[in-house]
Amino acid sequence: MEIPLDSLIRSESGVGVRIKENAAQRIKDSLGYTDFTLQPEFESIDDEILSYAVARMIVSCLNDRMIMDRLARYEAERAYHFLQTEEPAKKRYVAQSFGLDSDAGEMRVIDYVGLVATMKDAKWRLVNRDVRHGMVRILAGEYDELLRERIRVVIRSQLPLDIPGSIAMRLRPYADSVSVAYQEKILEQYGEVDEGSYPPCMEAIIRAVSEGTNIPHTARFSLTAFLHTIGLQEPQIVEVFARAPDFDISRTMYQVEHISGRGGTEYTPPGCQTLKTYGLCVNRDATCKDVSHPLSYYKRKKKGRKKETTESAAQ
Ligand code: SF4
Repeated sequence: MEIPLDSLIRSESGVGVRIKENAAQRIKDSLGYTDFTLQPEFESIDDEILSYAVARMIVSCLNDRMIMDRLARYEAERAYHFLQTEEPAKKRYVAQSFGLDSDAGEMRVIDYVGLVATMKDAKWRLVNRDVRHGMVRILAGEYDELLRERIRVVIRSQLPLDIPGSIAMRLRPYADSVSVAYQEKILEQYGEVDEGSYPPCMEAIIRAVSEGTNIPHTARFSLTAFLHTIGLQEPQIVEVFARAPDFDISRTMYQVEHISGRGGTEYTPPGCQTLKTYGLCVNRDATCKDVSHPLSYYKRKKKGRKKETTESAAQ
């Protein structure tokens, strides 16, 4: 079937709208997916392919690193899930088209290292592998996981696509609906911003900024990434830095936009261990003992404060 993607996107009725809605829904699902065994079976292969293609275009219009990451992970997990029921020959074909030879039983170290770079399980670390003559031994059952990662990497590496302005305009309402869903997800996760729950390290940086102290780049970066992740919008983050006596709006805007993902890479704040090495872990309190990340501190403290407010209101 020839896929008239361009006319589908321009269409404001029937199948065109259905595909765009499905594509937007696909991205929204990727923001909160958990269990792939609950995924419905395909209703129509054509719709699947088209909505995937349009979903890539919508995330490219948004150009938000986090959303692109989520979509790539979701699509890879989904492909992995459906591949489990495929015949070995078909699976092999998919693996080969993604550059993996599942019959080889080994992989060149250089390819292996690149592939497992973001895989967290210790079993993938090179020190824990059987390496001989520049080749890493791969067990039969491990190929599926490597294939899933390979699919994710390939999908992610293709994003964002270059979308012509006229197409981006047609996709704008769908991109906006994804943006709203994403904002809601962040709010669901972190809730309303509660300044009283900021960890001591972040409070200390804010205080230093307010007092006009020249803070290092690591502190500026950590605070911006922290505030962005808990749901502050860019202007609100700039407002925090505006308390500094040497405030330079365009420089600050540039830095905040860069760290928040406008440049294509959205950053998350460093964990406690890294903040310690930066010399930014200060004024530790009792909550700090139970956390390894300022974001966990924030969530935990906020939950506690909410509970206290509810209890005192009930008295
Ligand atoms: S332990 Fe973590 S949360 Fe607490 S002050 Fe240090 S870096 Fe911040």
